[in-house]
Amino acid sequence: MTTQSSDPVLKLEVVEAEALICTKCDLAEGRTQVVFGAGDPQADVMFVGEAPGQREDEQGIPFVGPSGRLLEELLAEIDLTRDAVYITNVVKCRPPGNRDPRPHEIDACKGYLRTQLELIDPAVVVTLGNFSTKLLLKTEVGITKLRGVAYEWWGRYLVPTFHPAAALRGRAQVLEDLRYDFSLVRDVLDGNLATDTGTEEETPPPQPADEPQQLGLFGQ
Ligand code: URA
Ligand code: SF4
Repeated sequence: MTTQSSDPVLKLEVVEAEALICTKCDLAEGRTQVVFGAGDPQADVMFVGEAPGQREDEQGIPFVGPSGRLLEELLAEIDLTRDAVYITNVVKCRPPGNRDPRPHEIDACKGYLRTQLELIDPAVVVTLGNFSTKLLLKTEVGITKLRGVAYEWWGRYLVPTFHPAAALRGRAQVLEDLRYDFSLVRDVLDGNLATDTGTEEETPPPQPADEPQQLGLFGQ
């Protein structure tokens, strides 16, 4: 049918095999294994978290700990399963002691995320928490202000929302906000977006239309 290099699913497997032995940053030293991503390589929805935690590092699969259970519940509420979506993180290796990933580590790793986005080519990207939101929307604006809206982004939509861990630690409102943001994902998939965005808005977000040139993750 097609050659390996033109088939996105095979190409993703090749890149994953490269990533699994990656030593491009110092996170390679402390990891048990690289957590590249999991799910459907042709998914319509791709989730981007922060970094693998202990359970993920042990199993090589993203979001298998407590945050993952909540993510699965939220997916179920919009009639999705983890197998129907693709899930990955900004950095593919666990930072020691679950510390935040550092800028040079994010820089070293972001090529894998760009390749995943290009090859999986989802209709909706959901950024979970500040790290993935800041990286992909190229903004310093915090998630609390940005969330609640599906942004048009590189010919698709981007829905920024809280990290599930914030709901596990935080106020009940965080979980309600996550539920709302997941409902936006469902709306995008169902083609029902236009009636939802803009109407529920409380805090005006930065105008995504002003920014396409700066959304440079795909750019050079
Ligand atoms: N938190 C993340 O950001 N990613 C995981 O894979 C697990 C927990
Ligand atoms: Fe390579 Fe990313 Fe792991 Fe760093 S975090 S070693 S860049 S896969």
